[in-house]
Amino acid sequence: MTEVLFKVLIIGDPTVGKTSFVQRYVNNLYRRDYKMTIGVDFALKVIKWSDSQNIKLQLWDIAGQERFTSMTRVYYKDAHACIVMFDLTQRLTFQNTVKWKKDLDAKCTLPDGTSVPCLLLANKCDLKHREVEQAEIEEVCKEHDFIGWTEISVKEGLMIEESMRFLIEEMMAKHSTLDDFSESLRMTTPTIRPSANDKPQASGCSC
Ligand code: GDP
Ligand code: MG
Repeated sequence: MTEVLFKVLIIGDPTVGKTSFVQRYVNNLYRRDYKMTIGVDFALKVIKWSDSQNIKLQLWDIAGQERFTSMTRVYYKDAHACIVMFDLTQRLTFQNTVKWKKDLDAKCTLPDGTSVPCLLLANKCDLKHREVEQAEIEEVCKEHDFIGWTEISVKEGLMIEESMRFLIEEMMAKHSTLDDFSESLRMTTPTIRPSANDKPQASGCSC
């Protein structure tokens, strides 16, 4: 059984539904009341991907105010993928997705230098009043190199599993190419093997 750990960022303006998304995905819970995230919240979800593969997802739910602080660089470090979320009923949160994406790309890349795969999620599609057209989302998605976008409703539990599955597939694909990449590095770098007298010390305490 192999196990891989992926760090996934969830970013976007305050109140778009990031914390609710994580709660829904990890615990299948939804709460109406709003509790502001301060700094960053973490959640872990273990997925049995196949008979021989487990995936540990570490979800970093970053408070929306954080874009204005230098802390995002610390939070973004070593991320494998990212979700940028906005609220379909608040146009400004859609406009700001571009700023979030640029903030991410300016501060973080994958080890091979390519940008972190980023999915654009349009939340609250259960609400009637909308301020963003689908054609505009499509355009921002293409222009700013998101790997895809979809409407979701955390409240109704719509497209939550599907969007995460899509993101995981993307990470798994990157993961195997990065493995090939580090494999090719190993082929060209001389390996240092411990000699017979470099045997590790027996562990344990003698006292
Ligand atoms: P965050 O600041 O981005 O973490 O946003 P929260 O997850 O705290 O959600 C902010 C508010 O939006 C809360 O009152 C949620 O109940 C509400 N909310 C979240 N997702 C949805 C949704 O899909 N539909 C509707 N109608 N409300 C939602
Ligand atoms: Mg929150």
